[in-house]
Amino acid sequence: MQLSNLIRLVAVLALTLAPVLRCSAEVNEVAKLAPEVYFHEGDLKAHGHCNNGWIILEDYVLVIDGNFPSGAKEIIPKIKAITDKPIRFAFDTHHHGDHAYGNQVWVENGATPIAHVGALDEMKKDETGHFGDKPGRWEDAAKTRPDVAASKLKPPTLLYKSEMIFDDGKHRVELLHFGVAHTHGDGWAWLPNEKILFTGDACVNGPYNYTGDGNIGDWIKTLEAVKKLGAKTVCPGHGPVGGAELLDDQHAYFTALTAEVKKLTGKDPSEVKQSVEGIRETLKKQERIARYVGDFFPAQVEKVFVELGGKPFLPKTASVDDHADHGVAQGTAPKFRPRSVIRTNAAPVRAGK
Ligand SMILES: [Zn+2]
Repeated sequence: MQLSNLIRLVAVLALTLAPVLRCSAEVNEVAKLAPEVYFHEGDLKAHGHCNNGWIILEDYVLVIDGNFPSGAKEIIPKIKAITDKPIRFAFDTHHHGDHAYGNQVWVENGATPIAHVGALDEMKKDETGHFGDKPGRWEDAAKTRPDVAASKLKPPTLLYKSEMIFDDGKHRVELLHFGVAHTHGDGWAWLPNEKILFTGDACVNGPYNYTGDGNIGDWIKTLEAVKKLGAKTVCPGHGPVGGAELLDDQHAYFTALTAEVKKLTGKDPSEVKQSVEGIRETLKKQERIARYVGDFFPAQVEKVFVELGGKPFLPKTASVDDHADHGVAQGTAPKFRPRSVIRTNAAPVRAGK
């Protein structure tokens, strides 16, 4: 090979491998966390995409999270650029659109969607259109997302109750369930050898806690159980990858929120609603949890208040906000939804959950 060709080849290789070998995660870039273990922070802002991970086992690839159809199409070429091994499994950490609506794309690429049984139960509840009833969340998302409209809902067909284990002698991936958190069917992918944990939206890194389908009281207990795994690297459902402190911060956020709302026990819902901004300021002053305070905040306060025995806010605001935000979070209406019409507090809206 001529020297000039060799230089060109080295340059091309360097350019090709650079994003793969980089360890600090950037949105839409592949981050290598350990040999054969990868993390990819999805473009939430522009496309509503969730984060993904994948593990290259001896004979196949296991992907963490189905993403939206467009999110699945975003990362499949990135996986194929790294390995020739077939993508056999796509693990939905839960049933939400940005984590499971890409299932059909994975199936078309040879993979089987996996989830905790609870995720399928949740899907049966929310995806009424698919299960023979009135239009559900999928149909709602399809109105504004061409990728959803062009695909179809594919519920997970491989299910586990307490755990499912992949082990090729080198890598071990345990799909686990620790109880109710972000939803009633949250699955976690734990790699005990590397001490890497993929959390789905049960742990996020930023203001993305959508609480409408879960239970914050249970969520705190679930996080306590998960912390005992001893993860060193935590890959959240949204936001950048972090260390063990991520689980602590997520736990601290809900604990602090609950403590503040508890002080209002027995109050009228309208008074609690008026206290929302005050609580927001209090929590924002706490450095480790300030980044969790965002647009879902009023709904989170209401959620805790109701869980503690209080009545929902009236007129029906926070829960309506929550549902609308959920649509945004799923990327159904990142730009077009007239937010001020729906929301009573006219805080700026950020996609995410
Ligand atoms: Zn979610």
